[in-house]
Amino acid sequence: MLNSTSVSEQYEQAGKSGLRVLVTGAGMAGLTVAQLLRGQGVHPVLIERHGNEGIGGYMLALMPMVDRALDELRVRGHYRENSEPLARYRVYSHAGRELREDPMAGILGRYGDYRGISRGELVETLTATGCHAAFGTTVAGIRETDAAVEVTLNEGGAMATLEFDVVIVAEGIGSSTRDLLLPAGKVGAVDTGWGGWVVWADQDHDTDLGDELWGAGFFLGVYPVKGQLGVFLGGAREDTAAGPADFVARVRNKLPSMSARADRVLSAVADEPDPFYWPLKDCRAERWAFGRTVLLGDAAAGFLPTAGIGAGMAIESAWVLARILGHADRHNVPTLLQAYEQAQRPRVEAAQNNSRQLASLMFRQSKLLAIVRDFIVRVMSVEMAVKSIQRLLVDEPDPDAVARAALKAAQSDAVRS
Ligand SMILES: Cc1cc2nc3c(=O)[nH]c(=O)nc-3n(C[C@H](O)[C@H](O)[C@H](O)COP(=O)(O)OP(=O)(O)OC[C@H]3O[C@@H](n4cnc5c(N)ncnc54)[C@H](O)[C@@H]3O)c2cc1C
Repeated sequence: MLNSTSVSEQYEQAGKSGLRVLVTGAGMAGLTVAQLLRGQGVHPVLIERHGNEGIGGYMLALMPMVDRALDELRVRGHYRENSEPLARYRVYSHAGRELREDPMAGILGRYGDYRGISRGELVETLTATGCHAAFGTTVAGIRETDAAVEVTLNEGGAMATLEFDVVIVAEGIGSSTRDLLLPAGKVGAVDTGWGGWVVWADQDHDTDLGDELWGAGFFLGVYPVKGQLGVFLGGAREDTAAGPADFVARVRNKLPSMSARADRVLSAVADEPDPFYWPLKDCRAERWAFGRTVLLGDAAAGFLPTAGIGAGMAIESAWVLARILGHADRHNVPTLLQAYEQAQRPRVEAAQNNSRQLASLMFRQSKLLAIVRDFIVRVMSVEMAVKSIQRLLVDEPDPDAVARAALKAAQSDAVRS
């Protein structure tokens, strides 16, 4: 549960622990790192731009790389109770015929849980033991001094400048604090030119089945969470400009056959009065660590939705960062943040490359290409498509070894100079 607690109250607690940490953004990454640090006896100040309305949000398919963080937070049971196993994955052709169904339980299940959860339930899970955050609060200025970071916070219009030992920027893909740290042009992006609507539909009997229809000029994905189905319907932005009802009519015209589920969820998109529209762009910051300040989650590398792994990597990165900070004192923070970037960035960017490759296969207009793609999908196993993700799951991060090696190297450098 998220409790609204002012910055000054949180800062008082922060001063009593070893490190004064500021976490900006109470999303997947910010909540995970803040809660893990609290478990280590550090009391970070957590701020969030929005109010504490308790948003239900959208559906998330979570890969097994989140399990370590959830276990360390002792909320794995809560997570399982409030999510659905994604045991099966089905793909339909561009014309709506079933192409294949794969047992995700066999492909990813050997590494841990693969489950569908709503963003709101995941927030509840991450904060099940209670979590303090100051809402309606953002960073107005940030300046690194020799021994700390001076941050000016805007808490509902009231400005305060405070000193921290570590600042973790976890503000998601549109982070404004990142813009204060990196000059324009240092955050790359892939813009697919596509976008689409995210809506909820009523649950059906296939509570463990996620399915996708890769059309010519449109994409329809349906993912179960507890009690409902998360739906995404997208296409080229110019084609979606006339709104969901118009686009759904176009999609229906292109589908000579469709499953009962596809029929139902298309109606859910058309009938939703004001659905959330998601422009399909990602981002990649050239640098993550800036002295005592570090970018985390989507603020560092924001994902396209194609592999369904952005939140998984954000939560894993939060776990790695919290473990590395477990070795920190006020002096060695810059060394450890550099080590975090060196260890975690290649993993995250490998996952992001996989999402980018899938996007170039999925977001296509041409019918001819869609026919060729249908053939490839029929003969290619899902295991092949997720090979690079499996590699990440086998090759687990070892943050404690990373921290020890970085501190040892820094000590040797100090002795030499
Ligand atoms: C519709 C949709 C479906 C998705 N499906 C999947 C999926 O199936 N699987 C998956 O793994 N990932 C999925 N993702 C991606 C996933 O949601 C993100 O990768 C993940 O949320 C990143 O976590 P984050 O904490 O970095 O950012 P966010 O979760 O976006 O959190 C950022 C937080 O920071 C706050 N904030 C922003 N600016 C400021 C500021 N200046 N000051 C203070 N606070 C600020 C925001 O309000 C927000 O609460 C999906 C995303 C969307 C939009």
